[in-house]
Amino acid sequence: MTGAVLGLATSYIKNQAPIRFDMDPRDKDKEWESFKEIVHRLNTAAVGYLSRNNLLPSGTVAAGFAPQHTKGAVIVGVYQLAGQKIPDSVNEPVLSPKGKVLYEKIRDEQLPQYVGRGAYTGFVDNWNTEGDTDPVGPLSTVRFLTSNSDSLSETQVPHRRWLPPSSSSLWCLRLRRDTEDSYVPWGMITGDKAQSAPTVGMPNPANALNEADRVTGLMKAQGMVFEGEPTLSDIAGYTHGMIQAIYKAYALGPSTTPYEITVGTETTKLASCVPCSLFMIALGYPPTSIHLGRGESWVPLFEPYTPGRSSESVERAVIRDLNNSWQDACAEWLALGLKVLDQSAVTNDHQASVTAARKYLDANSRDKSVASVLILDAVSIHESEMSRISRTLNAADSAALIDPTPW
Ligand SMILES: [Zn+2]
Repeated sequence: MTGAVLGLATSYIKNQAPIRFDMDPRDKDKEWESFKEIVHRLNTAAVGYLSRNNLLPSGTVAAGFAPQHTKGAVIVGVYQLAGQKIPDSVNEPVLSPKGKVLYEKIRDEQLPQYVGRGAYTGFVDNWNTEGDTDPVGPLSTVRFLTSNSDSLSETQVPHRRWLPPSSSSLWCLRLRRDTEDSYVPWGMITGDKAQSAPTVGMPNPANALNEADRVTGLMKAQGMVFEGEPTLSDIAGYTHGMIQAIYKAYALGPSTTPYEITVGTETTKLASCVPCSLFMIALGYPPTSIHLGRGESWVPLFEPYTPGRSSESVERAVIRDLNNSWQDACAEWLALGLKVLDQSAVTNDHQASVTAARKYLDANSRDKSVASVLILDAVSIHESEMSRISRTLNAADSAALIDPTPW
């Protein structure tokens, strides 16, 4: 993930403009200094690489704050090809008349949707005047199964996903407490808390006997849709609302805008996770803000998905095309990021990983999906991008820390 973030940042400042990573403004007092220092490591590595290769950066990698947050605030995928600009306010989005009605229903939780931890609901505003003029939503995060079976359809990622072997110590924490052989499947959020007792004083609607199952039961009670029940040969993946919204927006045409609306009371950052941001930027819909927190078991869609409706064939083509563009961008960014890492101050215990990642990419270079699959595999280990970057890159010279750009 450090390679992917560095590749994205380096290509950004080489080609276009500065790039900024944001933290939650409410954590300013306790985290700003460390956040700024980690982003500075990215900047040092990216600018250093470009300078050594006689390329003039057209910006820096900067640290900042996500926009301040009120009820119903939005993250916007800014469709640059259609000339869209970052909106003036992410707290009071300017919407079409029909879009405003749907937005208010989502914001006020009048429609079934997921409202628990990290809840953002996808939504597409539609200004089209011909054809389909309806806005789309709510599109909450959905949990899917990604399996390694051979019966995958043409839109499935062809490169095999990584599933830790049963001998791996990673499974120890997934053994449900007080059982001999009952494990939480790979990819499940909080799956590595199966050895812990359910947290006392927290809601436990399914009367789970361990923390992993308590959280899953709570997510279900808070409205997350689970498509299929994972077995130990499956990998659970979560498709965020913004990603679902982008496929819909792209299919509907240029007068549409994909949004993610914050809902519930447990969502804190008004920014996109790194895996969402990679997808959004690859497709020309850069997000209004990017955070360096978690994108746990993030996956794109591999099949058309409309809650409560059967899929349409036009969506299959959209998914194939957009996923191909995303795969190509991942390949480019990861290759560049690994080159940057080669010339950067990588920590001693991560140098072997950099070499292994490059060797793996080289050995599978004919498979165009391999880089994107490595990213999916990486985020199946649940950790913030901040922590990963800080473990991979040594602290940089702190002489020129970058000040935030105010919103
Ligand atoms: Zn996301």
